[in-house]
Amino acid sequence: MTWSKLQNIIENNQSFLLSSHINPDGDSICSQLALYWYLTSLKKDVVIYNQDPVPDKFHFLHDSDKIINKLPQRAFEVFVIIDASNSERLGWDASGKTASLVVVIDHHRDNSYEGDLNIVEINASATSEILYKFFKECSINYPPYVAEALYAGILTDTGGFQFSNTNNYVLRICAELSEKGANCSEIYREIYSSYSPAGLQLRARIWSTLQFYRDNRISSMEMQESLVDKSGANRGEVEGMSDLALTAADVEVGMFIKYNDSSTHFSLRSKGAVDVGKVAQVIPGGGGHTCAAGCTIDLPVEEAKKKMLELIEKELG
Ligand code: AMP
Ligand code: MN
Ligand code: MN
Repeated sequence: MTWSKLQNIIENNQSFLLSSHINPDGDSICSQLALYWYLTSLKKDVVIYNQDPVPDKFHFLHDSDKIINKLPQRAFEVFVIIDASNSERLGWDASGKTASLVVVIDHHRDNSYEGDLNIVEINASATSEILYKFFKECSINYPPYVAEALYAGILTDTGGFQFSNTNNYVLRICAELSEKGANCSEIYREIYSSYSPAGLQLRARIWSTLQFYRDNRISSMEMQESLVDKSGANRGEVEGMSDLALTAADVEVGMFIKYNDSSTHFSLRSKGAVDVGKVAQVIPGGGGHTCAAGCTIDLPVEEAKKKMLELIEKELG
C-alpha cells in the first residue's frame, strides 16, 4: 500500500478540500469524517464540501455539522475525492478547482483514477474500511467517535452486514471498532430506527407500489420524486427501499425507482447472480458494485423501466 505517499502529501501540505458523491450515503459521510479527524488532529486546514446535505440520520456522527454544502470560494493545496469513482459523481464542477494535488480514496471498481495519488481498493467493503487500514497500518490512534464513524461506514455499505462484501475480515475490523468505542446497537438504532412518522408513512406508500416481473425474479418499487417534499419526509428516509425490494425469496434483482416527468433514477440491488454494476454501466453516468449500483435514464418512467427490464433480463439469462 502507498501509505507513505499519502503521509508525504499530508506532511507537505496545509489545506485540504474533501468531497464525496451526490446524495451522500453512510460510507461517504463517515470516511470523510474519519479523514477530517486525522487531518485536523495534525492542525491542517480542512473543509468538507458535498453538493448534497448530510441525511438527518447521520447527524449523530461527531463533526457531521462541519460538512458544508456551499462551495468554498478559495484555493486548496490538496483536493481529496473520497468514496466516488470520479469527479463527475461529485455532482458539482470540480474542473476549475485549483488544487496542486488530487488524491482519490475509493472502493468502486469503475474508478477513473483521476488522482495524482489513487488509493483504490475495489475489494474493500467500504471506503471507511480503507481508512481503518490506513490508521491501523500507520499505528494512528483515534478517539471512540472515529471508531464509531468507521463502524457506521462499514455497517451501511454492507447493508447491515448482509451483502456479499461482508466477510470475516470485515467482521473482525468491526469487532475491533466496537472495542475502540463504537456502540453497535446505538449506531444501528440511529441509522435504521429513526424515521419520522411522515417518513415511515411515505415508506408504506412506496411499499404499496411493489411489482414483480419475469417469474418473480425481478422486483420494483417506485416513487415520484416530488412526493418526498409533499409528504413532509426527508430525502434520507426513502433510502434503503431498494434493499427491501430484494427481500422476496425468488427475486434476484430489486430496484427502487425515483422519477420525474422526464428522467428516471434506478437504485439497483442484486443477490449476486446478476452484476447490477455492469447493468448500470450501460447507461451513461451509471455504475456501482456487483450487488449495489445506480443509474439515471433520461426517459419517462414507463419507457425507462422497460429499457431497464430488458437490460436486467439479458444478464439474468
Ligand atoms: P444507491 O442505490 O444510490 O444506494 O447506490 C448503490 C451503490 O452504487 C453505492 O455504492 C453507490 O456509490 C454506487 N453508485 C450509485 N450510482 C452510481 C453511479 N452513477 N456511478 C457509480 N457508482 C454508483
Ligand atoms: Mn457511497
Ligand atoms: Mn462506499
